[in-house]
Amino acid sequence: MERVLIKINGIVQGVGFRPFIHKLVRYYRLTGYIKNTSSGVELELEGERPELERFVADVPEKAPKLAVIESVEAQYGLPVIGFTDFEIRKSKTEEKRNTLISPDICICDDCLKELLTPSDRRYHYPFINCTNCGPRFTIIKDIPYDRAKTSMSEFPMCPDCDREYHDIEDRRYHAQPDACHVCGPHVYFKAGDTEITGDDEAIGEARRRLMAGQIIAVKGLGGMHLACLPEKAEVLRKRKQRDEKPFAVMCRDVECVRRFCEVSDEEEKILTGFRRPIVLLKKKKGSDGLRYVSENQYVGVMLPYTPMHYLLFGDDIDILIMTSANLSETPIMFRNDEALVKLENIADGFLLHNREIQTRCDDSLCWVLDGGEYFARRSRGYVPFPIKLKGDEMPELLALGAEQKASFCVSKENYVFPCQHIGDLKNLETYEHYVSQIEHFKRLFDINPVAVACDLHPDYMSTSYAHELNIPVYEVQHHHAHMASCMADNDLDGEVIGLVWDGTGLGTDNTAWGAECLVGGYRDFEHFGSIRKIPLIGGDKATEDLTRVAYALLGDGDNEFYEAMLRDNINCPLSSGMGRLFDGAAAILGIKEHAGYEGQGAVLLEACADGSTVDAYEIAFDGNNFDWRPMIGAMREEKDKSVGAARFMNTLIEMAVRQCVMAREHSGLDRVVLSGGSFQNMYIMNRLPQKLRKEGFDVYHHRRVSCNDEGISLGQLCVLRYRLK
Ligand code: ZN
Ligand code: ZN
Ligand code: FE
Repeated sequence: MERVLIKINGIVQGVGFRPFIHKLVRYYRLTGYIKNTSSGVELELEGERPELERFVADVPEKAPKLAVIESVEAQYGLPVIGFTDFEIRKSKTEEKRNTLISPDICICDDCLKELLTPSDRRYHYPFINCTNCGPRFTIIKDIPYDRAKTSMSEFPMCPDCDREYHDIEDRRYHAQPDACHVCGPHVYFKAGDTEITGDDEAIGEARRRLMAGQIIAVKGLGGMHLACLPEKAEVLRKRKQRDEKPFAVMCRDVECVRRFCEVSDEEEKILTGFRRPIVLLKKKKGSDGLRYVSENQYVGVMLPYTPMHYLLFGDDIDILIMTSANLSETPIMFRNDEALVKLENIADGFLLHNREIQTRCDDSLCWVLDGGEYFARRSRGYVPFPIKLKGDEMPELLALGAEQKASFCVSKENYVFPCQHIGDLKNLETYEHYVSQIEHFKRLFDINPVAVACDLHPDYMSTSYAHELNIPVYEVQHHHAHMASCMADNDLDGEVIGLVWDGTGLGTDNTAWGAECLVGGYRDFEHFGSIRKIPLIGGDKATEDLTRVAYALLGDGDNEFYEAMLRDNINCPLSSGMGRLFDGAAAILGIKEHAGYEGQGAVLLEACADGSTVDAYEIAFDGNNFDWRPMIGAMREEKDKSVGAARFMNTLIEMAVRQCVMAREHSGLDRVVLSGGSFQNMYIMNRLPQKLRKEGFDVYHHRRVSCNDEGISLGQLCVLRYRLK
């Protein structure tokens, strides 16, 4: 017999870790105690060496899914004290730190099996869940996290559920949302005057109508979806007035996804993982059925993630459009009464239930890059799990993000908690949602910010909100925040070269920046280079009418009006936006002239590019700034738009490499971080990092937050952290 001291570092609190340890201790018949520490948990156990070693080996291997284990250190051979049982010791840090709340995660294999087993007491129960799965974040009203403070407070547990809840050997031990047919929530179907109750009956009615081609609103975990067969995409588009934006689809299983899309092993892993994001997959050539779902080469695909989804698909539905139910830029709907009124003219029927959603949470959306998520939107399944930062503990801080893809985050100790998808703050309902979520996060994590970071742009709603708070406000330049965000995302310290490409952000010189090469760190930066400025004819009008950008890039044409505006500099603000360069290129190549949604020109240009074209146009620099004029000159002669699109992006890639080489000569730095919404371009992301590495750079892209403006709040917070030091 001997004693071992085990220190486990990482995010192991609030994720079902102690019941897991309890079971493992019982399994190996060990004695001792566990307690929380500031960086994880600490255990002392007594037993024989082989059992102790197997215990230590099991910890990282069998830990609960949400636990993030950074290290397990074991000190064997300590003298026996004589523990008689196993106890959970309270520590001083306990009360203060019990703040981690799990995201909503998809139904686990055990629950899925029970759901489909006729003899199980939860057979076909649409809300089956356990400690390892089910709703969390979206049903919490307040802390501490227990049933009384969730949507489940209305559903007292029946004796059977209660017994499971209190049995540490049971999978439902301390599972707050646990329920069954007897005691839990139920589904119902509504269409006009028809109301159908009974879980199977209601879901069956929705299934029949979907298969008959109807559009059905389906209440999910974090909000309502509009569901229909892919062949009804055009009908849905018309009713939803969603002109050209792609829809996401849900497929019954991976085999089904493969019929429509290319799926790599890495993509399959993320697609089937317990967080269940929408994964952007390449459509299979000839999968024509999806043409009306998405106009580009990618389609967003997810797998069923709630028990209700599985019952809805049954044995015979393969694929459904599943798009967020919202009206023009307002937040996703999440209340039954609101949906019934506002979706009346869109949905033919409603599949609803009586478990309230407390907090909206849209589906997450990502590509898979280098084996991990590359987010366009980090939301359901990930939020509100924190990002752990290196270094000293932080003060409690708030960072407010930008505007169009609004986000905020709060910090506590070494954790940063980024919010879920919010939307565009110019919409009043979205702004109200944003403000209420800031309050919600402050309460959930018991955070009282001592300072706030916001964008430099005085007209952003987030900036004016910062000034209402009566705490010190720190303004952070937009692209600096992007750079800092990517540094923090990769645990980088010191100084880097930041290649930040996006649509627009206010620069320190009061002009619109957008394709910037910065040099610096969290605290400060130097603006190293950019691209030649583009005059935007008519200002914001040019972001929709791409021919205006094309006109400005080409510098001539037969529009006297534009000619005069340019010549006399009337409402032609200058921009170095990479998004604008893409817009202009899309128009010049004849790919797209009017953008139906933000970034459409860039999306279609990427989709159009011929992957086998490796050459580029001529690259010119004016000092450290890329001069696009020779490139544009060559593009107007281009015969084939697919070749032109590829050459255009190849030119940008080459240009970026040269600019980074110049920045390295200037600064001596050889680490490059890539951030900004223009890097939501997989053509570039599959080529630029390799080319930079060939030149001897270490290259980093986003992994845990989005590269677009949603990721900005993390960067703002890190800049603020260093400015306060
Ligand atoms: Zn489960
Ligand atoms: Zn029950
Ligand atoms: Fe940006």
